[in-house]
Amino acid sequence: MKEKWKAVINWAQKRKIPLLSVAVMLSFAINIIATPAEEEPKEVSYQTFSKMVMNDKVEGVEIDLGSPTFIFTGTNEKEYKTDNPKDEDFKKDLLEAGIKVEEVKGKTSDMMVTVFGGIFQIVLIVVVFKVLMGSLSNSKNMKRTETSTGVPGIDFTSVAGNEEAKEEMFFLVDFLKNPEKYQDKGAVLPKGTLLYGPPGTGKTLLAKAIAGEAGVPLISTTGSDFMEMYVGLGAKRVRTLFEDARKKAPCIIFIDEIDSIGGAREGNSHSENIQTINALLSELDGFSGSEGVVVIGATNRIQDLDPALIRPGRFDKHIAINPPDQKDRVAILKVHSENKALANDVNLQELSKLTIGFAGADLSALLNEAAILSVTRGHDEISYADINDAYLKTVMKGHEKKNQADRKKDELELVAWHEAGHALTAKLIAKSEVPKVTITSFTSGAGGVTFITPSGNPLPSKVYMENRVKTLYAGRIAEFLLLGDESQVTAGASSDIEEATKIIHHMIVTYGMSEKFGMLNLDTLGITNHANSLVLEEASEISKKLYTQTYDFMVEHQTELKAIAEALLEKESITEEELDNLLS
Ligand code: ADP
Ligand code: ZN
Repeated sequence: MKEKWKAVINWAQKRKIPLLSVAVMLSFAINIIATPAEEEPKEVSYQTFSKMVMNDKVEGVEIDLGSPTFIFTGTNEKEYKTDNPKDEDFKKDLLEAGIKVEEVKGKTSDMMVTVFGGIFQIVLIVVVFKVLMGSLSNSKNMKRTETSTGVPGIDFTSVAGNEEAKEEMFFLVDFLKNPEKYQDKGAVLPKGTLLYGPPGTGKTLLAKAIAGEAGVPLISTTGSDFMEMYVGLGAKRVRTLFEDARKKAPCIIFIDEIDSIGGAREGNSHSENIQTINALLSELDGFSGSEGVVVIGATNRIQDLDPALIRPGRFDKHIAINPPDQKDRVAILKVHSENKALANDVNLQELSKLTIGFAGADLSALLNEAAILSVTRGHDEISYADINDAYLKTVMKGHEKKNQADRKKDELELVAWHEAGHALTAKLIAKSEVPKVTITSFTSGAGGVTFITPSGNPLPSKVYMENRVKTLYAGRIAEFLLLGDESQVTAGASSDIEEATKIIHHMIVTYGMSEKFGMLNLDTLGITNHANSLVLEEASEISKKLYTQTYDFMVEHQTELKAIAEALLEKESITEEELDNLLS
């Protein structure tokens, strides 16, 4: 035994590692070995949890408020883990159902304290800190990122609706399954795929499903994980991420909220941000696409992305993930009620009509809420009354979206015309692609969305920017054309106006695109402010000119405008194909 200790000491001295650290590490190791390995809680779906609650199979629940998951114990004394719904009434509902609820905070760190005790912990922190500092250059193993890896256990059947998006993804699945097939043919694959659309519409779910279908690991991370206080660390993490992915290939890298790294660099002097996005760009440039790594990014705000990120050779495939229309909502409700016992009086068709404005995530939350309500009421099945009450509860919580039942007919009409205005001009003036137009209400002011695929042009031209402004103005102009009265237009266009103002400001100040000032960068001259009367004068001149041109154009095309608005009122959302038909 003595010999062994000597060997350890020798080893440490040779490597100039302080003996104290060795002692701490050894005791750490001994502790781990000596602590009986606790069985990891089995991960189950939230539906399974709801079902177990309904069947009185749940003994107690431990809620860690800050954690994305929670642990519960079954009546079989086994521990399970599932998604934390983070619902304010969750605890109350469980208690009413007679389930023990314990709130815990940072359970793991509490355990650490008891295991190592006071002084030991301080020593440990010092050592860990030193090790960390010493290995920043090799931060991969030390730094805990939010990255998670694994082959997801779901496939496309878990993603309802979004048929077009799924179709587009099939070939990625095929590629991941047989990369050789594509390599042999020398096929060029899109380097990065961008999923964009409102929150809760299933972008993450879709990425998981692709990995699940292909049976490859999904390396999942969030843009904000790369935003570090220390300059250079974010960039390093990007490189580490890709290195890791190449080793695991075939696999998928999923970067959620990519706008938090890839937000437009313009006027953003945060050097960390720039370094990180540059690292991401050079990783994308440097890989051939035949390495079996598929990169998928997701964002709610494609318009805020750095144009460099979405141009050819980077995230060059853009797929709109639309808010579900009525047909899709039926499909989503079906998926989420599959393992729930629904009473005969529940009509999903009817429910889908009531839930205009609900994203997939909202629909799933609604059914869970209803399931919990039915349990607390002692029912075996979820009745329509349970769903109705859950619906009222959800809507009353005053999420940003409106209760669609309260949307008056004339409000819907106004929204339809507003979106029709955007769609018409995006198509006919800007010649953009418009994958989908919908009057399904989301967070955007006017209560609808027109999906416009931005051109990946790295250097937007003057015409391009003017057309963008015209497309933005068209929403409000359409409202005016419907009402015939400027005093009745709504504030729904405020975000359009804000964006248009920014574009005009850049044209004047940054790009030398105004007649009044010529090719000057006003920033350099220190007169960038809107409050500056000269800039204001020029901006309002450009604005009025573009408004008038758009107005005239739309009056000329009023028939088409009306046709689009009517189609929207009838179908709630229309596809590019339908739009093209209306315009031809
Ligand atoms: P996003 O990434 O777009 O914000 P998520 O993928 O995180 O949305 O969706 C959250 C949850 O909402 C999913 O885990 C799923 O339960 C439900 N959901 C969203 N969209 C769908 C869909 N199309 N089909 C089935 N469930 C969906
Ligand atoms: Zn608008």
